[in-house]
Amino acid sequence: MSIIKTNGVILRVSNFGEYDRYLTVLTPKLGAIDILAKGVRRTKGGKARATEVFSVCQFMLYERNEKYYLNGVQLVEGFIGLQKDVVRLTCAAHLTDVWLTAVRYEDEAVPLYELAAYTLYALATGTTTPHAIVRACEVRVLTQAGFGFYVERCGFCGQDVSTDEQVDFSLAACQPVCERPGCRKAVAELRFNCGIDSTAIISLDNSVRMALDYFATAPLPRLFHFHISQRVQSVLDRLVPAYLSGRFEREFNKLNFLNKL
Ligand SMILES: [Zn+2]
Repeated sequence: MSIIKTNGVILRVSNFGEYDRYLTVLTPKLGAIDILAKGVRRTKGGKARATEVFSVCQFMLYERNEKYYLNGVQLVEGFIGLQKDVVRLTCAAHLTDVWLTAVRYEDEAVPLYELAAYTLYALATGTTTPHAIVRACEVRVLTQAGFGFYVERCGFCGQDVSTDEQVDFSLAACQPVCERPGCRKAVAELRFNCGIDSTAIISLDNSVRMALDYFATAPLPRLFHFHISQRVQSVLDRLVPAYLSGRFEREFNKLNFLNKL
């Protein structure tokens, strides 16, 4: 029985049986895996603490019949700040859904693992608002998965719109649309086909495009060191979740909980 040593961030925890726990862990080399932690709820102290949700740990595992079992675990970072704040915790749970979806689109999980660890750190300790962190992380996930926002040219005729003051972005088409009647007509038909209403075109000004560009390209350690205005945030709130659902072909509903508070 050979021991596998890996870092990982625990994204979900479910208790199982009387003393056991299943951990869903995002790792740099193995992607997202489920680990059975036998007897972990019976032990007090280190091992139990290191198997809490959103902990970054070093794991010692063994594999049997294509299942992973916990042999040992060492806590690297616990992000205590997350557990005490329902807004931050909900944002982390939402991003967990996004990461566990995105990992299926990646050949290599290292960038996603690093992004998840930095994002949790920012959510737990940063001064940037949780909602802004969510949007920045979503744009980065999309970019890493090959679905980055492309706002340089009209997606229908190819006309350069990069110097325009406003770029109209069609949610139904997931790309910009210029003023030409033919391109507008193409969007109108798409809208009709998808059943998305007329609000499906979102106007992106320079500040919004700069924010999208920053989220896509900033070095990871600086990714969450930014400030955006309420107006930019509200445009991103309309744009990014719809685009994310379109690209990953599923809804992400956990943040709806915050709107009900
Ligand atoms: Zn066009």
